Amino acid sequence: MIAKKVIGLPLKGLRLAMKSGDTLIQHAGTQALRVKTWLDTSKSKTDDAADTQFATTSGYKNVNAASNDEGIDPLELEFQKSPINLVPAIFLIATPIAAAVITPWYLMTHQVSAPVWGVFGAFMVWTGISITAGYHRLLSHRAYKAHPLVKNFLLLGSTLAVQGSAFDWVSGHRTHHRHVDDRIEDPYSAQRGFFFSHIGWMLRNYPSGRFDYKNIPDLTKDKVLQIQHKYYGLWVLATNVAMVAAVGWLIGDVWGTLILAGLLRLVLTHHFTFFINSLCHMFGTRPYTDTNSARDNFFLAIFTWGEGYHNYHHFFQYDYRNGVKWWQYDPTKWLIVGLSKLGLTSELRTVDDTTIKHAEVQMQFKKAQQQIDNATANGLDIPHAMKSFQDRIKFEYDAFTQTVEEWQALKAKTIELKKTEFADRLHEVEETLKQDYAKVEQKILAHNSNLKNAFRSIGQSPKAA
Ligand SMILES: [Zn+2]
Ligand SMILES: [Zn+2]
Repeated sequence: MIAKKVIGLPLKGLRLAMKSGDTLIQHAGTQALRVKTWLDTSKSKTDDAADTQFATTSGYKNVNAASNDEGIDPLELEFQKSPINLVPAIFLIATPIAAAVITPWYLMTHQVSAPVWGVFGAFMVWTGISITAGYHRLLSHRAYKAHPLVKNFLLLGSTLAVQGSAFDWVSGHRTHHRHVDDRIEDPYSAQRGFFFSHIGWMLRNYPSGRFDYKNIPDLTKDKVLQIQHKYYGLWVLATNVAMVAAVGWLIGDVWGTLILAGLLRLVLTHHFTFFINSLCHMFGTRPYTDTNSARDNFFLAIFTWGEGYHNYHHFFQYDYRNGVKWWQYDPTKWLIVGLSKLGLTSELRTVDDTTIKHAEVQMQFKKAQQQIDNATANGLDIPHAMKSFQDRIKFEYDAFTQTVEEWQALKAKTIELKKTEFADRLHEVEETLKQDYAKVEQKILAHNSNLKNAFRSIGQSPKAA
């Protein structure tokens, strides 16, 4: 605690990180706080009037009246009483069982030709990348623009994935970002555990899983997406049965293609995508923010076509990249960039390097603060290495605060210059501005490297788990 006062870094710095990152996270935090506060109030049963008012405005009056006696959150009660979502539940339970039984039996009793394996592989890639590049980065986040050819190809692949219509998928996903980790409002809240966030959220008709499409006005006016949504069941059958069987017929093995490129591919793609909502909110590092549970995880990026860098994605959701560093395994980003060279994608949105590095440095300071707090918590003499770590961090933080102030001043100056009366002079000062921004970036990089060295001196990694 003393260290916190000495360094005084956490909140001021965090506020700046919030500004530079995804402001929706603040909203999510407020939502979580709201529910927590309400739960506390409910438990103490000292403010019935406030409870009733909340319940009335939320449309849960009857449930609330019943639950006040039991002391259970009415929203939680509605969650627990949610009816089974029959068709998706049967489908999601039956397909993995069928794949687990039929696939080994078929492989043991039949010779599968190379073309069938080829189609299986191609369909795995097409379906998986259609979800990540199509439903996710293109439709949910508008991270880039795509030629209709690309958009429709990805839409067909996403339909083949059987993960709901674009309306449902995108509406749910935008709600997930907006209310991430909120037990009531996040449709696949990781706070409800692995099973719920992985698949459980689809098995019952939970209140958080009912989408009203108010958050997808850009999609609901799209004619192609309207058709996909209206005839979704037919599209699923046409792609997963008719199209797969037709390809099987072309390569001379209808049943083999249906079982491998149809059933097995479907189940694998399902669960690889589901990993993003479950495991990517549980295992990995948090280099950019710890305001939510999303993690960066290289191993999961392999199965999820690059979406394993989920901590970055939750902080900078509009970036077309999830693995933001050039060496990070993100085939979806490589596809989008590759297509842009052919003129098939455009307006790829990115976050500038300084902002990204700034978020990383903020998190490193936060982790340093935790280390110091842990070391000083028992009030005994702290080891010499830790004492010098504390001094280094304090020195670095003061310097970092100065750099951030310079950066903010530079941004303010740029905005001022962009105003009409200065606009015609902008080109004259552009070069100087560029140099000033480069200087700030260099300074932030230096802070980053100094922090890494400081962490090394106490045998730690700067990445927060
Ligand atoms: Zn997420
Ligand atoms: Zn997203």
